Amino acid sequence: SDVVLIARVRSLTRLKMMTDELRMRAITSLEIGVQAPERSAVADTGKGGRILLVDDRPSSYERLAPVLSTEHTVDVEANPAEALFHAAEGNYDLLIVSLGLDNFDGLRLCSQARSLERTRSVPILAIADADNNARLLRGLEIGVNDYLLRPVDKNELLARARTQIRKRRYTDHLRDNMQNSIEAAITDALTGLHNRRYMESHLGALAEQAASRGKPLALMMLDIDFFKSINDNYGHDAGDDVLREFAVRIRKSIRGIDLACRYGGEEFVIVMPETDLHVAGMVAERLRRSIAGEPFAVNKGANRIEVTISIGLSTLENKGEPVADVLKRADTALYRAKHDGRNRVVSAAA
Ligand code: GH3
Ligand code: MG
Ligand code: MG
Repeated sequence: SDVVLIARVRSLTRLKMMTDELRMRAITSLEIGVQAPERSAVADTGKGGRILLVDDRPSSYERLAPVLSTEHTVDVEANPAEALFHAAEGNYDLLIVSLGLDNFDGLRLCSQARSLERTRSVPILAIADADNNARLLRGLEIGVNDYLLRPVDKNELLARARTQIRKRRYTDHLRDNMQNSIEAAITDALTGLHNRRYMESHLGALAEQAASRGKPLALMMLDIDFFKSINDNYGHDAGDDVLREFAVRIRKSIRGIDLACRYGGEEFVIVMPETDLHVAGMVAERLRRSIAGEPFAVNKGANRIEVTISIGLSTLENKGEPVADVLKRADTALYRAKHDGRNRVVSAAA
């Protein structure tokens, strides 16, 4: 059947594209000297998967399940009415659905599995009777990934199951990878706070939102006092410990909607929506005290260091004001805080 042939070729071509992409990434990671997680994905055999076999004919599943069990963990669901629930709960790598169920439409099950969030990306392998090409085509249209015709050949069953499971794992892997790259691109690795790039691209949106809602927006620029001498006296690792602990204390002092980022080496910025200068001043003062009031443990607790910070505050003054100006005013206020003796909060003059 031409149509069925084309459907299968398309499915295999997609698998090939994914493998190539993974191989390319593996090579790049290797070139920059990183142990490539992709290599294990490429080497994946497609064995050891979790399979749900939906089939209500004992003569059929009693033959198929033992074959699949040689390479995978297999559950049999003989009650098609329970199958969808079972599939959604079981965290499967593959659903094998008999289209020739006695009192149930196997295709309907496939289409339900495709529309349910938890089963949407689980591959489906259909088992069809040779004389029912129309149903098979319909199945491929609604998202069945591959099929087998009865009588099922054991080796073909194993090979098709492996292919679908590999593909599923590739896709998961690529998705995780994407998630990780996005996170890495907006996060500061040392402190886990947002990085400067993220803050600068998001600050504009926050300012626009504040302006359109007629709400205030406050910005705090913080800098650790005499940080260089911490590095000089206790070592660079101790300096890193201080930065990490500083980030922890920042998180404790601010609300979920406040945006905290590491702006530079030992400089941080906190953006506070719906906050005026008066309230921002109280938050800044509380944060300043939480730093100065409790020494920082560094070098695995071997040393305790007194740390202080200086803070400059500013607010969005008028609609459409460039955010760079707001940052600049906070920076100028910070400079004054340093100049006036450090360990203090200074608000920018309006
Ligand atoms: P001030 O009170 O005027 O702010 O003095 P300071 O010593 O804090 O300021 P300065 O800008 O002279 O020094 C900042 C130091 O921060 C210099 C740099 O080596 C150090 N630094 C920057 N990034 C890191 C980092 O990621 N880890 C560590 N340990 N040190 C860093
Ligand atoms: Mg400093
Ligand atoms: Mg500095």
